[in-house]
Amino acid sequence: MGEKSKIVVVGAGVAGLTTALLLSKRGHSVAVVAKHMPGDYDIEYASPWAGANYLPVSAPGTREAEWDRITFAELYRLTTQVPEAGIHFQDAIIYRREKDSRSVSANWFSELLKERPWFASIVPEFRRIPKSELPLDADFGVRWKSMCINPAIYLPYLLSQCLKQQVRFFRGTLTHICQAVDFHLTSSAPSSSSNIVVVNCTGLGSSTLGGVTDSRLTPARGQIVLVRNTAPAMIVASGTDDADDEVMYIMTRAAGGGTILGGTYQQGSWSSVPDKATAERIMKRAVKWCPELVGEGKGVEGLDVIRHGVGLRPLRVGGARVEKEVIGGVRVVHNYGAGGFGYQASYGMAEEAVRLIEESLKEEVKARL
Ligand code: FAD
Repeated sequence: MGEKSKIVVVGAGVAGLTTALLLSKRGHSVAVVAKHMPGDYDIEYASPWAGANYLPVSAPGTREAEWDRITFAELYRLTTQVPEAGIHFQDAIIYRREKDSRSVSANWFSELLKERPWFASIVPEFRRIPKSELPLDADFGVRWKSMCINPAIYLPYLLSQCLKQQVRFFRGTLTHICQAVDFHLTSSAPSSSSNIVVVNCTGLGSSTLGGVTDSRLTPARGQIVLVRNTAPAMIVASGTDDADDEVMYIMTRAAGGGTILGGTYQQGSWSSVPDKATAERIMKRAVKWCPELVGEGKGVEGLDVIRHGVGLRPLRVGGARVEKEVIGGVRVVHNYGAGGFGYQASYGMAEEAVRLIEESLKEEVKARL
């Protein structure tokens, strides 16, 4: 590529870190600037709150399904070959109750709840659960060998992989996306906006960031309980009897990361405070669907809570935004708005962003000739 390209990624969640890593591995000179970094827990930073597991919710034949397909291969490679990434195999079990057919979660999980979803041919050991083995009021169930990421290990892992590739990191809060050009200080010659591409990975921050202010973004609030107990598998149900925007999922994170009990999917709610009554319902549902969490004869008192938390999924009406744009003379590529699938689509989305960034760099060179 001749002169090393200059790219500034804004955001250090799973989207920003994955994009920065792929760019640096392709020989680009990359800087990352972010208000929050791995290690932080904040309502403006979705990534640390995620489960995070691989349960595709994308419809067949869509670009989202392609992102999930690409990501599966890389997460599988990391799980089998890179133990320090903090990902392990865990069976996913999906239960469908016919009475949930119109619920928010049944709509969100519509692909997951099918008898033969598109991803059945790529995940290992996909099979239907015999009726005689279904618990409680489940009418149907499938299981396969899936993966669960421990974000407390995986985000620092991505960051250190970036450092190994000479990516530079800066703390900073931008009020306008074009301020990102000030953060590329690797060249001895002063940088100008004309030879820099900015990558916008600010998640929900894109709803207020100057130059972007995306009104299609909205939070899908997820309240969780992290416990020390261990679950034998990741379990998801199609709905709950408690509220339409409450969900039931359980997953045990890799390497002693505890077990996440979820949760909620409350669109439009920005509340950062865990609600006590909601937490009680989350724990009760988890013990009901997975009594092995606490051992025979025990109820929620058998759960050993590490922390209660709330994260905001960066949901975007009309779909995630992986797109290029010129803002105030600066070439920008967006990669945000992954809602509840930011990890499981991360490599597919980042690969698409990299393709657009390299197109933008070529356009820049052409424009300068
Ligand atoms: P974020 O992680 O929010 O990162 C945004 C970054 O941009 C931060 O570094 C922030 O500081 C920075 N930023 C924002 N504004 C500015 C600014 N003005 N200036 C500088 N920096 C700025 N996904 C899955 O795939 N599987 C799961 O199992 C899963 N479970 C989830 C459970 C919960 C409870 C939640 C909340 C989410 C879950 N998700 C899951 C979704 C996933 O967490 C998100 O899609 C993903 O983390 C979004 O990552 P991001 O990098 O786009 O945004």
